[in-house]
Amino acid sequence: MQIPDPRTPLRMECDVLVIGGGTAGTMAGLTAAEAGADVLVLEKAHIRHSGALAMGMDGVNNAVIPGKATPEQYVTEITHANDGIINQRAVYQTALLGFPMIKRLESYGVKFEKDEHGEYAVRRVHRVGSYVLPMPEGKDVKKVLYRRLRMKKVRHTNRVMAVRVLTGPDGRATGAVGFDTRTGEFVTISARAVILSTGACGRLGLPASGYLYGTYENPTNAGDGYAMAYHAGAELSGIECFQVNPLIKDYNGPACAYVTGPFGGYTVNAEGNRFVDCDYWSGQMMAEVARELASARGPIYLKLSHLPDSTISEIEKILHGTERPSRGTFHENRGNDYRHDDVEMHISEVGLCSGHSSSGVWVDHTASTTVPGLFAAGDMACVPHNYMVGAFVYGDLAAKSALKFVAGAGSDGAAEPAQDQVDEAHELIYRPLANPDGPPQTQVEYKLRRYVNDYLAPPKTARKMEIALDTFQRMEAELASMGAKTPHDLMRCVEVSFIRDCAEMAARASLFRTESRWGLYHQRVDFPERNDAEWFCHVNLAKGPAGAMELFTRPVLPYMVPVEGFEFVALEPSPDDEAVEGAVGALEPSLSRR
Ligand SMILES: Cc1cc2nc3c(=O)[nH]c(=O)nc-3n(C[C@H](O)[C@H](O)[C@H](O)COP(=O)(O)OP(=O)(O)OC[C@H]3O[C@@H](n4cnc5c(N)ncnc54)[C@H](O)[C@@H]3O)c2cc1C
Repeated sequence: MQIPDPRTPLRMECDVLVIGGGTAGTMAGLTAAEAGADVLVLEKAHIRHSGALAMGMDGVNNAVIPGKATPEQYVTEITHANDGIINQRAVYQTALLGFPMIKRLESYGVKFEKDEHGEYAVRRVHRVGSYVLPMPEGKDVKKVLYRRLRMKKVRHTNRVMAVRVLTGPDGRATGAVGFDTRTGEFVTISARAVILSTGACGRLGLPASGYLYGTYENPTNAGDGYAMAYHAGAELSGIECFQVNPLIKDYNGPACAYVTGPFGGYTVNAEGNRFVDCDYWSGQMMAEVARELASARGPIYLKLSHLPDSTISEIEKILHGTERPSRGTFHENRGNDYRHDDVEMHISEVGLCSGHSSSGVWVDHTASTTVPGLFAAGDMACVPHNYMVGAFVYGDLAAKSALKFVAGAGSDGAAEPAQDQVDEAHELIYRPLANPDGPPQTQVEYKLRRYVNDYLAPPKTARKMEIALDTFQRMEAELASMGAKTPHDLMRCVEVSFIRDCAEMAARASLFRTESRWGLYHQRVDFPERNDAEWFCHVNLAKGPAGAMELFTRPVLPYMVPVEGFEFVALEPSPDDEAVEGAVGALEPSLSRR
């Protein structure tokens, strides 16, 4: 294909640009459109079946249903799961607004399990509180959203990938640059507010199978939003708190404690003994899993064979029908049946994902980032353990905040894209075409992610992180020499640059926090103890004025809910506690650079 002229892109314009049409992005698009805004949702795949919901979802992991659990209970749980390092007010939003969101989804046609009295049939997986709400027809959730998107005529563009967020001279987000992954056409979008909702960085570590796309996370999510936010000048937080999940060995899909736990399934070691002592959503549990796997008691298994046939049939109906429907075929081809074979489990590759742990773009309780006019939602925004319902809630909040920002900006139209930024993005996208016989993306990506496994995956040490950093910096030249011939290859090459950016952030943040925290997620064997005296704070990073990555700490904000074991400093009540209708919260500039 020909390299397009950077001065004649396809130009688009809108008030609110949403980058990523998955869980959070479709909700942001719907909220903005329903408020009458001129919104455009940009999706690099096809929005009907893109993102983590592509093959459906078997349940809501964190539903706070009135009468079944309270927001305070949920916030307490999430505070414990994150060793106290959270913005409780941001987490409270998910607890409070999750229920109205479930009602809204129901009005769109999404089905949630009810009991014989018509009440939501939440199940208990954790030590305290019942938050898991099964979705009997969850396989259709993305289709339902897509139908709604079309019904509301939400403008969206499939197969257009954003690569950089544009900023104005005052630092405000003013749009994005991207390209069509089928035709290769160069695209610029001018916008008055931008929402990033591109999901996790799921392609950071290499799965044990070695397959580039055989990841736990949706493999199209390569950390695009993390990298775009960073280059736009936004702060990121908790990047050292990796995501590692328990999963089915070789299949790499979730082992589904959320589904099987309430039915009586549990994890055992090779001796048939239960060993998990910690609560499900903590990094401590993953530390226990890793320890057991490395011991003479490994491997480990999901035990279902003690359950009656009818229960197993019910589990199969859920697990083999939604989320990862190929799971049934996988077991069948192996000759495994839950009735007499326990399922061998393993741990996943490392990734960045606030939906399951806490690493992401720093946002407050209104989904605002530190860049004016830039908002973030879903797995890439640092609201810990937000999962699916949190992505919906924050997609909605981000849209409301973006609309408020646009209204506050008065009648200023969308800014003209800055040509130097457009040229830089053009170079990033099309550079591999100038070198068609250069190393292919698959080769370079494999190498990069193998180094992630070798030097970044826990247990972490300073020396390993330093080698990782040297390696990721050295590999910049290799990335620049990658070759491509088709628009699809170009997409993959840009993704490798996002993965590299995320790997560098992960190495620097892990090196910076000289203690161990969150169980396996940040296990520093050279600093094996948790050190609250020095490290009870967020570790944030941002691009400094000279273009280098800078790391610094931010204090944990005062709590809304007192939690045993953590010092309580009450948060002053604010008019925007309940929802974004109030003022968009300014981020405190109280940070300390080291
Ligand atoms: C295997 C698995 C099982 C899960 N099970 C559950 C469960 O049972 N219950 C639960 O509550 N939660 C579950 N979750 C978590 C939940 O699905 C996620 O937290 C949530 O869906 C994340 O939404 P998101 O919008 O951030 O990301 P996504 O829904 O993945 O959306 C991101 C979108 O951005 C697009 N995109 C990426 N980069 C670009 C770019 N550069 N330009 C344009 N578009 C781009 C992607 O194609 C994608 O469509 C699960 C997650 C996984 C991976």
